[in-house]
Amino acid sequence: MTEASPDAPLDSVHITDVGPRDGLQNEQGVIPLDSKVKLVEALAAAGLTEIEIGSFVRPDVIPQLADSADLFTSIDRRPGVLYTALVPNQRGLDRALEVAVDKVAVFTSASEGFAQANVNGSIADTIDRFRPVLLGAHAAGRKVRGYVSCVIACPYDGPTDHARVRAVCEQLLELGVDEIDLGDTIGVAKPADIDRLLGGLEGLLEPGEIVLHLHDTSGTAVACAERALQLGVRRFDASCGGLGGCPFAPGSPGNLATEALLDLCERMGFQTGVSRAAVAEASRAICSILGVEPRGTG
Ligand code: MG
Repeated sequence: MTEASPDAPLDSVHITDVGPRDGLQNEQGVIPLDSKVKLVEALAAAGLTEIEIGSFVRPDVIPQLADSADLFTSIDRRPGVLYTALVPNQRGLDRALEVAVDKVAVFTSASEGFAQANVNGSIADTIDRFRPVLLGAHAAGRKVRGYVSCVIACPYDGPTDHARVRAVCEQLLELGVDEIDLGDTIGVAKPADIDRLLGGLEGLLEPGEIVLHLHDTSGTAVACAERALQLGVRRFDASCGGLGGCPFAPGSPGNLATEALLDLCERMGFQTGVSRAAVAEASRAICSILGVEPRGTG
């Protein structure tokens, strides 16, 4: 991959805070609804314009997110902010639309081992389940994000072949997803892996078209985000306070912390429109309830 021209104008980076969904889903303990409402409202007030706050899987599967519908109906919505949720299938979409979810996400994997373990089917099965979701979401005027997990490596299958990532992205684009979010689910990427990942998508997706979802399991998330920014990626997921551990490496850091990404963007001269201090305050509040230390705030 070649680096973006240094003469390019300073531009902005879009951050989706996934703390209220991806973060809390992977923390021990269930947070009371009113604390989740405060967290989501604080993140929107901090300037985040896209926040993933729920998941419409079966409530017994993820108890931490069983109140997703209540959360959507309880928050005070800030104009211009997208409040998003995962939906696994048609039933999930119906429940999401009932509470006016702004944008939905479907999820598959670049590795068969992870798809079988995490979404209970083959990659092809997941794609089949997406068809009615795409149709229904678009008919309701909602955009659809397509998550691809394990784009660098899989806890079951080992390193992921970039041709597999490309093939899954091609299928998602054919289905009509509006954006593709590539996840280093187990947090093993090094900066050179970002070059290889984006290089494998050349001619299909430009760096500026994808969303990157990094995990800090190996302490390399910020270095990978920096490399991605150099290569032209402008859309990232991050989690306030680094919420969300790694189920495959207990005790390890989870998602790239929003605060750490904001620091990086500031250092590199990118605008985000987000107040780092306000995010850090929201992180401190939720982390004190969870009994964990916020990450990325040092
Ligand atoms: Mg994550």
